[in-house]
Amino acid sequence: MDNEFKNIVDSLKATKSITRDQFAYLLEKDGEDNREYLFEAAREVAEQVFHKEVYLRGLIEFTNYCRNNCYYCGIRCGNANADRYRLTEVEILSCCDRGEKLGFKTFVLQGGEDPFYTDEKICSLVRKIKAAHPSCAVTLSIGEKSYDSYRKYFEAGADRYLLRHETANEEHYSKLHPESMSGALRKQCLRNLKEIGFQVGCGIMVGTPFQTTDNIYEDILFMQELQPHMIGIGPFIPHKDTPFRDEPEGSVEITLRLLSILRLLFPKVLLPATTALGTADAIGREKGILAGANVMMPNLSPVKVRDKYLLYDGKICTGEEAAECNQCMRRRVEHIGFHVADTRGDHPDFVN
Ligand code: SF4
Repeated sequence: MDNEFKNIVDSLKATKSITRDQFAYLLEKDGEDNREYLFEAAREVAEQVFHKEVYLRGLIEFTNYCRNNCYYCGIRCGNANADRYRLTEVEILSCCDRGEKLGFKTFVLQGGEDPFYTDEKICSLVRKIKAAHPSCAVTLSIGEKSYDSYRKYFEAGADRYLLRHETANEEHYSKLHPESMSGALRKQCLRNLKEIGFQVGCGIMVGTPFQTTDNIYEDILFMQELQPHMIGIGPFIPHKDTPFRDEPEGSVEITLRLLSILRLLFPKVLLPATTALGTADAIGREKGILAGANVMMPNLSPVKVRDKYLLYDGKICTGEEAAECNQCMRRRVEHIGFHVADTRGDHPDFVN
């Protein structure tokens, strides 16, 4: 094994910090022994905190309408080919009922930035879910909102909020988004969410067009400042109806190494092995868990809308019923020697 690689991993594990050069070395230096050493170090840290438990989140993709036009996203408002849908409140509540019967303790309500779902509608939905499932957590993933809106959602009972920052570098941000959107605003949203009291998740895609290793290092610096409770990362996968249709897919290998580095930097963070990782590699999610991730997000959305919530091409798990997805995910977790937790799976700082 490469001595320098080993020393950097050891130092990262001991100090929970990494320099720009060390980071580039861990991402780019090849060698099977090297990568295994990194993955094993991350696995050990995850095991100390989470004891081989994997948390499952029931994902409910409730609207694919979005007012934004991010260049990488299949449900961007400029995509006239997207077959738009909204789930009704009754449909969403019945997804949660089914989810709790299947053993889920967290529901993630995810959607585009859809003005149809006013704050009142979101708050009413959150209150109804919490009343029907008091032992479950509700995570929202519905984009940029005002401080006041976030506060209302929190007061209605929402526990967590996911908002990928996409890239911490302004110039890179402007190459992925139209002029109407700003990376600074997105970062401010995350700070606001944290101040209000949510368990907060940020994140990026690996291998987006124009992304450099330095950009990803800037993401790490931003995460060190924000101290998120969750970090969502997955490889960039192009969608055929977006301006990035011909761009190459992000690397699974870099994604896995980054997962491990994040685990070593943030031992307690909730780190999903994402669906995008499972799309880019048939056993990508298992590899993610073995690289230090500790969360999976099976789909609870009704099958009739699954193939309409396509942020990228080739997305897996669009045909299976919730029960099948649940069973499949549990089998995958057990197959690699882990087990699914039967708790809410909060960030350790939020566990009483
Ligand atoms: S990435 Fe999010 S905000 Fe951007 S177009 Fe897609 S759903 Fe909308």
